[in-house]
Amino acid sequence: MQPDEAAKKPGHEFGENTRLVHDARHDRGAISPPIYQSSLFSFTDYDSMIARFRGDSDHALYSRVDNPTVVELQHKVAELEGGEACLAFGSGMAAISNAILSVVGPGEKVVCVNHVYPDTYRFLRGFCTRFHIETQFVDGSSLDALDVAMQGARLLYLESPSSWVMSEQNLHAVASLAKKHGVVTMIDNSWASPIFQKPLEAGIDLVIHSASKYISGHSDVVAGLVIASRERIAAITRHISPFLGGKLSANEAWLLLRGLRTLPLRMRQHHTSALALAGLLQGYSHITQVNHPGLHPSPDSSLRGYSGLFSFELREGIDIPTFCNALQLFRMGVSWGGFESLVMPAISVLNQAGEFNSAIDFGVSPRLIRISVGLEDTADLWRDLQNAIESACF
Ligand SMILES: *Cc1c(COP(=O)(O)O)cnc(C)c1O
Repeated sequence: MQPDEAAKKPGHEFGENTRLVHDARHDRGAISPPIYQSSLFSFTDYDSMIARFRGDSDHALYSRVDNPTVVELQHKVAELEGGEACLAFGSGMAAISNAILSVVGPGEKVVCVNHVYPDTYRFLRGFCTRFHIETQFVDGSSLDALDVAMQGARLLYLESPSSWVMSEQNLHAVASLAKKHGVVTMIDNSWASPIFQKPLEAGIDLVIHSASKYISGHSDVVAGLVIASRERIAAITRHISPFLGGKLSANEAWLLLRGLRTLPLRMRQHHTSALALAGLLQGYSHITQVNHPGLHPSPDSSLRGYSGLFSFELREGIDIPTFCNALQLFRMGVSWGGFESLVMPAISVLNQAGEFNSAIDFGVSPRLIRISVGLEDTADLWRDLQNAIESACF
């Protein structure tokens, strides 16, 4: 089947869950889409080949550009985010770097909010600076600071809620401020997933996901997505992505299509469990601070729900290595968004070797613990946290 047929989907009279469960119709009535494990796609006749090169046909050509399994994923995600087009990549960082480079060039300025994902920070501070793209980092919760910083800028890069401290930006207000300055806006929406936040509706220009997190949901894929207008996606596919070559594989696209079917269901469970644990931690004497956007919801928030990732600070006197080692269900590890619960103490990245350490530069507390709440029973997770905290008190 052709990618354009794959794009045909039930109309919007259906709800999001229905649309995510129902894929396009496939050959032989297959319920699950085929994995097109083919590097190239041949033509039956000369004219159809010429038509493809002229741009008059969407016949698949080559898997660096338009693998049909990947194209089906792109259609589904574009619709879910409410965008015209989507482009999939082999990682979230490929999505981020391609998207940024499609907007800014040498001599142009980026404004970026504090507490962005560490490799986004390194990309802007290190790589981009080498190509004479300068970035100013600002407190994303201050509209005044953003207003001043955006003068003469080309791109505003957002991440809401942000890494480590989960601080939100007012997307509607920031988007209209950026329009006033003629600045393009881009957001990393991995935390909320398209289920809980649709930034294009708030006026943001480009949305990025590390699909390695909730969209995959099973901790078995590394992938990235960019969703925007056809024109903005074309700026990437014409000038950036074919040359950087960070394409997604058909197998991984298929796993993401599978992940999407249960995304709303999983997000609802992450929402409920993490909010319950955040509330319990907030009332717990050993905890000095809980960073979860649902505890003190802002009236300006564009979040429709909360994911499973949040952080808290352990009071002095609780030994962090003992706490981490005492956890039985929360495993120590980077990443998040999967079925399994994970723990990551900020001290591990504060001590990380290498240039441009965002945790140090943005002043993340060494007492901070980030957890990714998985799909286990919430009561078991609470008992695990409580036991580990009690056993680490001295
Ligand atoms: C993990 C992550 C990324 C990077 O995604 P990869 O798929 O690992 O390249 C970007 N942004 C955020 C917020 C992330 O958590």
